[in-house]
Amino acid sequence: MKETTVKINSKYVNRMKSGNPIVLKEAIINIKDLHTEGMILKVVDERGQFIGKGYYGKQNKGYGWILTRKQNEAIDGVFFQQKILQAIEKRKAFFENEDTTAFRVFNGEGDGIGGVTIDYFDGYYVINWYSKGIYQFKEEIIQSITSQFPFKGIYQKKRFDVDGKYVEEDDFVTGERGQFPLIVKENGIHFAVYLNEGAMVGVFLDQRDVRKAIRDRYAEGKTVLNTFSYTGAFSVAAALGGATKTTSVDLANRSKSKTIEQFSMNGIDYEAQDIIVEDVFHYFKYAVKKNLKFDLVILDPPSFARSKKVTFSAAKDYTNLLKQAITITEDHGVIIASTNSAAFDMKRFKGFIKTAFQECNERYEILEEYSLPEDFRTIKEFPEGDYLKVVFIRKK
Ligand code: SAH
Repeated sequence: MKETTVKINSKYVNRMKSGNPIVLKEAIINIKDLHTEGMILKVVDERGQFIGKGYYGKQNKGYGWILTRKQNEAIDGVFFQQKILQAIEKRKAFFENEDTTAFRVFNGEGDGIGGVTIDYFDGYYVINWYSKGIYQFKEEIIQSITSQFPFKGIYQKKRFDVDGKYVEEDDFVTGERGQFPLIVKENGIHFAVYLNEGAMVGVFLDQRDVRKAIRDRYAEGKTVLNTFSYTGAFSVAAALGGATKTTSVDLANRSKSKTIEQFSMNGIDYEAQDIIVEDVFHYFKYAVKKNLKFDLVILDPPSFARSKKVTFSAAKDYTNLLKQAITITEDHGVIIASTNSAAFDMKRFKGFIKTAFQECNERYEILEEYSLPEDFRTIKEFPEGDYLKVVFIRKK
């Protein structure tokens, strides 16, 4: 394929040469030469010295990704095949684990190709395309799976509509269509997933280790409040771990039936649990008024959300969210504070925690911390890729 030379502003050269694979818009000097997403880029410094080869693909993160540091390596079917083979080999233990049938098999730049992720759900693969650019390599990438590995079916999520929004369509690609819900397992917990119902499938795989910790070590005999609960996956883990009661709160109407379904998948009497469709911020007010307190409070808000009255941005509003949670947590209770915002790092997140407790005049102790699990491979040269931050905090 023809290569287009892209010159990098000297300010960005060092970090790109030392392994950071992202091609930022502001780093490109000759941006006018980028015309078609998916075109192959030869990335060079201002003096023309080779940095790497990659592709043009517009994402919120940048304008493309470096894929190889070898000047003579072709970016072709064989290239993609090798990357996918290596990624799948690294997940060998997951493929062999009968208690966990849902996990990530390919994590973008962490596995050598920024802009695409692939998840595995009991024989079905779900590919997330993050730009029109990477989607140009669809045939090569899909072939890399279907020609090398057994599979039942393949689905895809195009996440490259305006502002990186999901393109609503039939997501089935090839193989046989699944019967949904598909029941997958995670450390023995059952989850119902729907691979062809929009951007989200029903469970966020990156929280696997957190769910296990809740079930195995934090739930027994506790009252649990799960805010921004979505399908209630944390509540299911808590109930299986022996929680006396779980309360799940989410604004979305669909969350109620989805949560009932996840409880039922696991033989839990959902009528013994509270599932509330409401704005979390309203619920906090109600809980304070009624003097409700919980032993374990889980906070997992979206990075950014706009409801009718409130706009929530994790970067701006997490401290305030924590303060409300602190108020309704029992003394010696635990708050699990989680965020997937790439706008701040763990250090700043802990700063929010510190401020929130100070402003509430309460003392705390950090019990444990989580970032992305093993299958969500990341590279140290691109720390923003490790977006997940979860802190278990004891209120003292
Ligand atoms: N904790 C969940 C994932 C949360 S996804 C899990 O582990 O599966 C974020 C959820 O927040 C979505 O389901 C969305 O409906 C909900 N949400 C966004 N703003 C909200 C608000 N103000 N009040 C309650 N829920 C909200």
